[in-house]
Amino acid sequence: MPTGEFDLIQRHFRRPVRRALLGIGDDCALLAPRPGMQLAVSSDMLVEGRHFLSTVAPERLGHKALAVNLSDLAACGAAPLAFTLALSLPRADEDFVGRLAQGLLALADAHGIELVGGDTTAGPLTLCLTVLGEVPAGQALLRSGARPGDTLWVSGTLGDARLALEAFRGTVALDGLDFDAVRPAMETPQPRVALGQALRGVASAAIDLSDGLVGDLGHLLAASGVGARLDVDALPRSAVLARQTTAWQRDCTLAGGDDYELLFSAPADRAQAVRAAARNAGVVVTPIGELTAEPGLRLVDRAGTPLPDTARYAGFDHFRTA
Ligand code: ADP
Ligand code: MG
Repeated sequence: MPTGEFDLIQRHFRRPVRRALLGIGDDCALLAPRPGMQLAVSSDMLVEGRHFLSTVAPERLGHKALAVNLSDLAACGAAPLAFTLALSLPRADEDFVGRLAQGLLALADAHGIELVGGDTTAGPLTLCLTVLGEVPAGQALLRSGARPGDTLWVSGTLGDARLALEAFRGTVALDGLDFDAVRPAMETPQPRVALGQALRGVASAAIDLSDGLVGDLGHLLAASGVGARLDVDALPRSAVLARQTTAWQRDCTLAGGDDYELLFSAPADRAQAVRAAARNAGVVVTPIGELTAEPGLRLVDRAGTPLPDTARYAGFDHFRTA
């Protein structure tokens, strides 16, 4: 008998429940949220050819599918609880599903969460995950809390995921070592879950970076009703990206996408608290600009000279039209 959807679920996804009251196998999963906590819920879908290359190793695809979802919980300051997986598969490929589950569940274990349900269907390769998290009532980090005078911060480094993608596409030439150094940023990003929780009560607003710094910052500014001044030469970048041309560095850090770092604001007098939170979370954070009452985004270079073409980083995609 050929492998069916229930065999796949049974063999690769179903494990004994730990924290949930009821996991895979019934019509619903059951979870018991703790008193005083709010539920944080987010979904992200990954479609073959659009969000990942068809050549990606299944383990890394599994990792990334959960990572990008956990990144949304991180941006809200929520602690992950559990997740579901809706999977569309061209065929019941045991090897593929097994390896996918391995990468997915390894990251789940690293965050102490479990897969509690989902759906499996035949179709184009697509993964849609829903993550559930909890956050103390009223303490979620939102996009809307930033105020003029706040400092803008970002975690980690920016641009490597895009640099790796362009190396895959052949638009940038990287030697083997450099490629190996940036490839994990694209294939196995690490969601900043601990940092998000450590920033509760410290950050005034937060968003995770999935679509590029300038575009995502625009969402935070719009939600908060503020503007920003951003020093493009202060943006943290890897040694590999720092060796590329200035134009490439700016394109990748400002408009690269797939960074899964946290962009957040905090009152200027909370810098010590921000640094302490980052230390506790084991993540590097860098101040990159300040928020202004005047709306709009002003990009300046190290000397304070405005970049002439700010709009291109939000609306124009250099890479697709090149
Ligand atoms: P229903 O018909 O009630 O929607 P299904 O027959 O689709 O349930 O699924 C059977 C069980 O397997 C359910 O508990 C469901 O949550 C779980 N499940 C289905 N697909 C997946 C998946 N890809 N990952 C995890 N659990 C899954
Ligand atoms: Mg049912």
